[in-house]
Amino acid sequence: MKSARLTAPAEVGSIRRLFFIGNRGRLELLERAEEFMRLALEEARAASDQGEIPVGAVAVKDGLVIGAGHNRREGAQDPTAHAELLAIQAAAKAVGAWRLSGVTVYVTLEPCAMCAGALVLARVDRVVFGTRDPKAGAVGSLMNLAQDPRLNHRMEVVEGVLAEECGATLKAFFKRLRRPGAG
Ligand SMILES: [Zn+2]
Repeated sequence: MKSARLTAPAEVGSIRRLFFIGNRGRLELLERAEEFMRLALEEARAASDQGEIPVGAVAVKDGLVIGAGHNRREGAQDPTAHAELLAIQAAAKAVGAWRLSGVTVYVTLEPCAMCAGALVLARVDRVVFGTRDPKAGAVGSLMNLAQDPRLNHRMEVVEGVLAEECGATLKAFFKRLRRPGAG
């Protein structure tokens, strides 16, 4: 085994996975993925500011954000007001169609079963998430609704983009909650 070129920088865990696929298109995708994940993180912080569990999402088509959302379960008192659902609802409104072909959804946390199901129904091309949700994730953790051959649509899944930041945002939120006297 020649260590021909152990190029690999990969400062971030997230980069590593795609980097080793070694395909240029992939790298470009990843660079953009981080850019869009930062927008999803901004959404997550907006949720946090409102006392909501910080999860944010953006829907992107042709390099443009066509929908964004953040968790609003408490504020809306709506169990379905998850970031991804709100983002694809906004996207469908923006394009005037329920079918979101060509759309990538970036979300800070692995989608739950409801959201993964909705992404399948919306026929999105790809879902990119930051950190895994071992308790409720339905795109690899507990199940994988995004790539179930029994369903009539499957999408590409990319995980681990800005995973640390996405995870840290959640951790900081829960830490604050636990602190006595915290608002
Ligand atoms: Zn969800």
